[in-house]
Amino acid sequence: MKTSPTHVLKFGGSSLQTTDLIRQAAELVSARTNNTRPVVVVSAIDGVTDQLIALADGNFENTDSPPPQITQLKQQHLEYFDTLISADHPNRPLLNDLFTELEAITKDQIFRKNNRYAWRDQLLSIGERASALIFASLLSHWDIPAHAREAQHFIKTDSSFGRAQVDLDTTRNLIQQAVSSADGIPVITGFIGSNDDKQITTLGRSGSDYTAGLVASALDAERLEIWTDVNGVLTADPKWVPGAESIQQLSFADISELSAHGANVIHPQTIRPLQNTDTAVVVKNSHNPVHPGTLI
Ligand code: ADP
Ligand code: ASP
Ligand code: MG
Repeated sequence: MKTSPTHVLKFGGSSLQTTDLIRQAAELVSARTNNTRPVVVVSAIDGVTDQLIALADGNFENTDSPPPQITQLKQQHLEYFDTLISADHPNRPLLNDLFTELEAITKDQIFRKNNRYAWRDQLLSIGERASALIFASLLSHWDIPAHAREAQHFIKTDSSFGRAQVDLDTTRNLIQQAVSSADGIPVITGFIGSNDDKQITTLGRSGSDYTAGLVASALDAERLEIWTDVNGVLTADPKWVPGAESIQQLSFADISELSAHGANVIHPQTIRPLQNTDTAVVVKNSHNPVHPGTLI
């Protein structure tokens, strides 16, 4: 029996900004179920990691009421859930629990004092864990079997919190096991892993791209699609160079060079696990999905 090729679709925060964009991303995944096996990797919703960083690095009063940033983040995520899915869906309490966990971590002064960096990474993990839950719940709401998969269970790293180095061999095996045992579409949290003590670590800013590269490599994916907010890789950052043009095709060497020199449309480590493989990497614009983007 011929098995369907695996397509890994990674949605950055900029592709998950609004409920309309999340719905569109889920529709792209749904359309892929006919003749391929889609695997999803998500970042936190746009701006959420920045807000969590501000929360972790800020001075907050140790009062009984939750810091206002938590209340606001919780409200935003629950509103997205209720708009996209329904307030009665069985996963909604799990989303609520993530914000209860966020509040508990924030208040855990002993954890914070003992290992500030481990504490911070656990706090940051809430962003991806919440978006994966919303995304998987939306697919299952549409009767497409899907499950959120928290990557701390299969991406193993050292203890360099904030920029953890991945143990590639162990991670490769664990990804294969985790995904083969998953029924339905796995919706994997980008950005996070865990160390040998099962403490959550993070892979560095924009690390979800790297997660997607690791997943695509472990699964021998036919395609890795990085969905973002620009027409693929451009000749320069369009935020600074408004006339920057989309590059149709780039070699692995070119993209390594570009991303190492600050083209942060794609995390420099993303394609490293995919060198010398047949996986096609495509950078696409979810704000303009008809544009062909860049093929690497
Ligand atoms: P995402 O949320 O999808 O991960 P990012 O903000 O991490 O999005 O990456 C996309 C951004 O990368 C673009 O909005 C753009 O401003 C920036 N960027 C920097 N250099 C480049 C480049 N050479 N080509 C395209 N985008 C670039
Ligand atoms: N959410 C993380 C960040 O903002 C990871 C990512 O987006 O790739 O850096
Ligand atoms: Mg990014």
